[in-house]
Amino acid sequence: MVLIFGKLKRRLNFAVTNVINAINFSILYDRTRPEIVDEEKEFHCDQCDKSYTTINSLRSHKVKDCGRDKSYKCTVCLKSFRRKAHAKSHFDNIHRKHM
Ligand SMILES: [Zn+2]
Ligand SMILES: [Zn+2]
Repeated sequence: MVLIFGKLKRRLNFAVTNVINAINFSILYDRTRPEIVDEEKEFHCDQCDKSYTTINSLRSHKVKDCGRDKSYKCTVCLKSFRRKAHAKSHFDNIHRKHM
């Protein structure tokens, strides 16, 4: 009986250790994950140079963030840009060719 209990206890310890390892692993994984995702930003805003890991972040950026304080407007089509350089490159790429 003592022997069986001893085996059971060892099995239990093993199971507990596995669970702890799994928890530790998931914590480590969660910590490293954002950095990995950061390097793979796939959703680029077409109005500015920002990029996001999820389409939802990009959408919320476009709604809340990107529309604000656009101070540079294209003089031809009145499209707005947050950065002067973007307005200039837009002008060069889109309009200058046709002039
Ligand atoms: Zn943007
Ligand atoms: Zn334009």
